[in-house]
Amino acid sequence: MITRRRAFLQENIIISASEPQEQRNTMMRSTWQQQLSKAIRDPQVLFERLGLSNDLLTGAQIGHGLFEICVPEAYLAKIADADPNDPLLRQVLPLGKEASTAPGYFVDPLEEADHQPAKGLIHKYSGRVLLIASPTCAINCRYCFRRHFPYSENSPSRAQWQEALDYLRSDTTIHEAILSGGDPLATSDRQLAWLVEQLEDIPHLKRLRIHTRLPVVIPDRVDSALLGWLAATRLQKVVVLHINHAKEIDQAVVDACARLKQAGATLLNQSVLLRDVNDSTVTLAALSERLFEAGILPYYLHVLDPVQGAAHFDVPDSEARELVAQLRDHLPGFLMPRLVREIPGKGSKTPL
Ligand code: SF4
Repeated sequence: MITRRRAFLQENIIISASEPQEQRNTMMRSTWQQQLSKAIRDPQVLFERLGLSNDLLTGAQIGHGLFEICVPEAYLAKIADADPNDPLLRQVLPLGKEASTAPGYFVDPLEEADHQPAKGLIHKYSGRVLLIASPTCAINCRYCFRRHFPYSENSPSRAQWQEALDYLRSDTTIHEAILSGGDPLATSDRQLAWLVEQLEDIPHLKRLRIHTRLPVVIPDRVDSALLGWLAATRLQKVVVLHINHAKEIDQAVVDACARLKQAGATLLNQSVLLRDVNDSTVTLAALSERLFEAGILPYYLHVLDPVQGAAHFDVPDSEARELVAQLRDHLPGFLMPRLVREIPGKGSKTPL
């Protein structure tokens, strides 16, 4: 019997039949772009691949109609068969309840539209700005606070980037540029290298921060082209990964993280506290331990941003505080993430 992990490896290995046998044995994995283009974008396919009961399919179609499903094969390979409660599956499986409108949940929960002085640029906190470097992701997380973000209005052309870059040049108090999205690494290395070149020419910029989930969901994204521009920049590099469960960190992710570190990046992680995904002390402790094994420091544990369609993931503040208090009994201080909430209009994240 072929396991799904093995099927993934077979599907993502390119072997030319015209090559001699010994050369065919030198196998080449498909590129991250090929893996991204083959990501699952149809709930029915997801159900077939995982052997899920069709009872949930109607709801999945409804959720998919609101925010389309996207699951790359490398992530699918880490999900258990026929288990609707798998913590990785729950992050990507659309549900009918996403159509409910819960009080206190909004389309733009962080009011980002009020902080956009230029196309593709969000300036909420002093000293740092966020650049929407890509309108897409390699995975669509059901709880994403930007699931309704108007990306079509925030995808600048190179000419339009000049306005955002001029904004950065004119404000000497800005020391850090944060590449965000979507997922910034979903865009081409050519475009990213160009953008980083523009940024490093701004003398008062010191740091480049990249918020990404791509090394977790398609570890092959961390390839030589990415490492080339990352290693070359004069800016100090921080990569903030987004990992919610220890099961997301397999050997391929560990290897990708090692490559990022070799290129000079400091690796941090932010998680979201999610009902029925990671809302237990044991799960959170295992996540911190596994992060450290992969060379990543736990940074933030966010409570859910109240985005419309994600209310079923909510964990109340009192329970979140209790979980973190218990977590302190299990972990050394340097493995404790900070429990925070983002409140619109505040100058920084708010500790809970
Ligand atoms: S990778 Fe990040 S930005 Fe993309 S859908 Fe998931 S949470 Fe949202």
